Amino acid sequence: MIALCTKKGFAMRFKTTVVSALLTCSVFVLPANAADLQDTRKIAFPVAQDGSHVLVVDTHTHSVFSDGSVWPNIRVSEAVQSGLDMLTVTEHIDYQPKFADLPNLDRNRAFEVTHEAAASGAPEILVVNGVEIAQPDASLGTYSGHFNAIFLNDANALLLPTRKNLPPRVDWRKAVQGAKAQDAVIIWNHSWWDQGRTEPQTFHQALLDGKVIDGLEVANADQYSESAFRFALDHDMAIVGGSDLHSTQQSFFDRTGIEQRTSTLVLAENKTEAAIKQAFLSRRTVALYNHTLIGRERDVRPIVEGALTLHVVSISQPGDPFGFGRIALRNASSSPFSLRRIGDDTIMDAGALITVPVYGEVVLAFKSKAGEQRPTMSFEVLNAQIEPHTPLRITLK
Ligand SMILES: [Zn+2]
Ligand SMILES: [Zn+2]
Repeated sequence: MIALCTKKGFAMRFKTTVVSALLTCSVFVLPANAADLQDTRKIAFPVAQDGSHVLVVDTHTHSVFSDGSVWPNIRVSEAVQSGLDMLTVTEHIDYQPKFADLPNLDRNRAFEVTHEAAASGAPEILVVNGVEIAQPDASLGTYSGHFNAIFLNDANALLLPTRKNLPPRVDWRKAVQGAKAQDAVIIWNHSWWDQGRTEPQTFHQALLDGKVIDGLEVANADQYSESAFRFALDHDMAIVGGSDLHSTQQSFFDRTGIEQRTSTLVLAENKTEAAIKQAFLSRRTVALYNHTLIGRERDVRPIVEGALTLHVVSISQPGDPFGFGRIALRNASSSPFSLRRIGDDTIMDAGALITVPVYGEVVLAFKSKAGEQRPTMSFEVLNAQIEPHTPLRITLK
């Protein structure tokens, strides 16, 4: 009954028929603002201007099979809420603080449980195997060498032999190399945690020189690192955002006030594991952090230009002595766009900054030039960064 009413309360937003909603569901109607809040968690971008599908991927989560605190099926329901196209549960391969209660030596098990949960409840979500491998030498920094291996075939093949009923162990270097030998995509996680910025140590450099590392997190949970962004650009790495969820997604929202989970937008030919993997290998990824797109111009531009469009609402006819027109800037994505006016526009009724709301539009008056039928407007998109401190510039017509 509650679920039914919740659904009707949600539908109310579109019908705006308060009376009928009250008649059908007088007790448990979800308040309209709560429904809005719930919906704004969902990440969605239309097809990019270059024809690529913009898929939403999280490469970094945990469950009780390592140091997370939820069963993997919760990760699937959270992925539904966030609109993910692909999910990985990347357990620490050799760190199981719950081992006394959950003495499972099978390091593929979290993937299998997640995969089964998605297959039965959310088949639209692709689930791939992954693990997080950490170098353990504290003198090198506690967090300076955490690597996710995703699109992995067999996590157990990376383990060292152990005596029965003891937690699994790895040689981290061999584990990373072994994952690479399985054709996994390797991502260097939260590289700024020890130093405050991304500074490779000798062992990182050896992995970079050996072309072992494919991607770099520039955003992790509620953090974004400009030095990591710079590093990823300079080293031809896939630009990645990972939620690194350990507890529930809702607790992340509550703790940070951030509206959507940190994730990666992937420009893929289609929604298949193979196409998404190819996109990581081709570096066609953009990190999404708190409604900011972070990536190369090659990838950020088609995403923004696929989502943000200019439409002429009215335009003055030749001979009109007033010469005013109206344009609508429309946003077909789940992130609001924050625009700064640049260039020689003739917008009459906006300040220097314009926000185009989620799935919405702003209508602006402009002074049209004689005979002009297609006005041209240029903006900086402040929440689309193509280099540190460098917003994307677009011209809409
Ligand atoms: Zn980590
Ligand atoms: Zn992690």
